[in-house]
Amino acid sequence: ATPAATMVGTSIGARNGVLFKGGDVLERTKDIDTVVFDKTGTLTKGEMELTDVRAVDRTETELVSDGGAMLEDQQRLDEETILRVAASAERGSEHPLAQAIVEKANEQGIEPSEPTGFENVPGHGVRATVDGMAVLVGNRKLMREYGIDPSPIEDALTRLEADGKTAMLVARASSDTTSGELIGIVAVADTIKENARHAVSTLRDRGIEVRMITGDNEQTAHAVAERIGIDPENVRAGVLPEDKADAVNAVQSNDNRAMMVGDGVNDAPALAAAAVGTAIGSGTDVAIEAADVTLMRDDPLDVVKAIRISDGSLQKIK
Ligand code: ADP
Ligand code: MG
Repeated sequence: ATPAATMVGTSIGARNGVLFKGGDVLERTKDIDTVVFDKTGTLTKGEMELTDVRAVDRTETELVSDGGAMLEDQQRLDEETILRVAASAERGSEHPLAQAIVEKANEQGIEPSEPTGFENVPGHGVRATVDGMAVLVGNRKLMREYGIDPSPIEDALTRLEADGKTAMLVARASSDTTSGELIGIVAVADTIKENARHAVSTLRDRGIEVRMITGDNEQTAHAVAERIGIDPENVRAGVLPEDKADAVNAVQSNDNRAMMVGDGVNDAPALAAAAVGTAIGSGTDVAIEAADVTLMRDDPLDVVKAIRISDGSLQKIK
């Protein structure tokens, strides 16, 4: 592209809230054939709300759990206790899921206690000691790491996830954390962004393949993808933060040129791996720094706008 074409493109972009970091970015944007979206905060608003709290009945789990003696004193904790325990464990986490749990507890006037020995397990959940009890809050993977079988509550989880909610398991771990017992489920709902579906169909109309990667579980990811119009085979779920860049490289391994769109700290390496990294909206500084394109507004349709601008400006003045 000529310097003039590049200038036109970047300045049209700037006026439309689409910031290209230099002329070569414009060129690369024009050539992409795949867009990979992060789910949370990119296709969804990332405004999470805790919607469900369940206590797990011991009879549901005792058949498979040999640690059944642990809860002899308390057959079944009530929902308020589950929420209090989960909120206490999540106090030290900055994850939006954690914040949704803590917020709901506050709203209901539940006093969380100060956890000790807090540990964040990225892509899995948290571990903390609450009132002397070792507590886990997180996904199935977290439970398995601690020797807890999540299958007795699989039906309940699946029902919540079919609604597009992120269900988290709450467990009490043995003091040596080699076994434990499921005590509850909390679920958080997020809202799909208004233009997400429209953005996906417009990209596909342009012949661009649309994919989604997320750290969230398989069921929730597919429920959300279906609503947005992304093909199930183009969804990769359960991707650990450190594996997101590899997932982008895998997409690009067949000569594809991908734009990766994300907002979070976790997304920075994936943005850097993509031919074009795009940070969206209220993206973190880390994401913006790693990105080639920054979308000032929080609108997935601006991905289409970025591609249109790169196309239009580079063609016109050739
Ligand atoms: P993403 O950024 O794609 O939403 P993350 O890698 O941050 O995904 O998290 C992946 C999954 O790990 C979440 O969907 C959730 O199941 C679990 N998880 C992560 N952090 C927490 C937390 N603080 N509390 C409970 N679960 C968590
Ligand atoms: Mg994220």
